[in-house]
Amino acid sequence: MRIDIVAVGTELLLGQIADTNSAWLGEQLAAAGVDSHFHQAVGDNQARIVLALRTALARSDGVIVCGGLGPTPDDITRDAISEVMNVPLVRDPTIVEKIRYLFESRGRTMAENNARQADVPQGAATIPPAGTAPGLICAVGGKVVYALPGVPYEMSEMFTRAVLPDLRQRLGDQSARSTIASRVLRTWGTSESALAELLARRIEVLDAEPDNPTIAFLASGMEGIKVRITVKAPDTVTAAAMLAEEEAHVREVVGEAVFGVDAETMESVVGAGLAARGLTLGLAESITGGLVASRLVRVPGASTWLRGSIVAYSPEVKFSVLGVPDGPVVTESAAKAMAEGARRVLGADIGLALTGVAGPDPSEGRSPGTVIVALALPEHDCESIEVHLPGDRERVRQYATISALDLLRRRLIAGEIEVSQAC
Ligand code: ATP
Ligand code: MG
Repeated sequence: MRIDIVAVGTELLLGQIADTNSAWLGEQLAAAGVDSHFHQAVGDNQARIVLALRTALARSDGVIVCGGLGPTPDDITRDAISEVMNVPLVRDPTIVEKIRYLFESRGRTMAENNARQADVPQGAATIPPAGTAPGLICAVGGKVVYALPGVPYEMSEMFTRAVLPDLRQRLGDQSARSTIASRVLRTWGTSESALAELLARRIEVLDAEPDNPTIAFLASGMEGIKVRITVKAPDTVTAAAMLAEEEAHVREVVGEAVFGVDAETMESVVGAGLAARGLTLGLAESITGGLVASRLVRVPGASTWLRGSIVAYSPEVKFSVLGVPDGPVVTESAAKAMAEGARRVLGADIGLALTGVAGPDPSEGRSPGTVIVALALPEHDCESIEVHLPGDRERVRQYATISALDLLRRRLIAGEIEVSQAC
């Protein structure tokens, strides 16, 4: 079964609000095993809403349209649907009375405009409202149009209460019921083209059979590159097993570039790695000015493994607080001294430090985007990496943050760091 989504509202086209309704509906439909191949956004214009509905109905089994069910003259979804159905709008007196009662029970009088919300295309069924606007279930030549209000909580409540059961009933008539499920593997440190190359062979194998899982890439800037695995299965248990099996294939090829799954973040993974090993972390941040600490403290329970961060921005602070030897501070040796200093001053098992040039101007003869990350681990020589990051000041600082966290993550999973000895 295929259902299109049409979101109505000029504010969507002007970019004043994001179309979260379609995103939410897409997720719900996938979980119910309903394909949704097209989402449209259209302004408050009857001819264009009619065109959007006809286009959707021509290629799907039905449409969910959300928005434009309100009382104001620009709310014209009902009019558009009646045009598509080729029937008149008929005012339902019982709905008018319900709306009037709703207003009066709040001590207000209903404006005559509100009665428009009781207009129903002849022959359509209504969905009792979550707010004031009733929804609609309209049969159109063997297909179906569901109309829901635009207000997100009304839309989602009415979808779950009325649309989903109706869809399930229609699905039940079909022999093949199924569910669609996805898992997102989040990666850092490999380019999108390199990932695509690594997985090319696997994707070729999967493409050979229509019912196989599919793999897609999603570049997410500072959040890395996501690899999404999607499966279609008769039930959720089979879907979960298929996802697990495909995840194993992808991990085998992509390796430790995968830092997390679904809602996991770089900071949550680093935090979990430290907690599992009973290790504590101390930071010395120059270029990032506290961004690394700020990301880490988003993780609940961070106080058990994060000792703190020293924002050692001016060279004098690096010398006096962290014990960095006098001299240039955008160097590997300064970064290492910062990491050792953070470890010592903050009484942590691990010291992680960042120094560099955020730009736009060079510093100490080093170009903007130069970032040095140093890591001081128990019973290891202090190590450092130098990276050259693209972008403006803000991007360089954000990329530096995740690069530093990724270095620590890789060392944690490599098992090089043992459970803490007294430091
Ligand atoms: P109302 O009865 O409140 O007028 P409506 O069905 O006419 O409801 P709209 O007027 O289109 O709905 O939208 C009401 C509000 O709901 C918008 O101002 C916006 O905040 C939100 N909204 C509408 N469409 C969407 C959407 N696709 N995604 C997210 N929010 C939306
Ligand atoms: Mg409205």
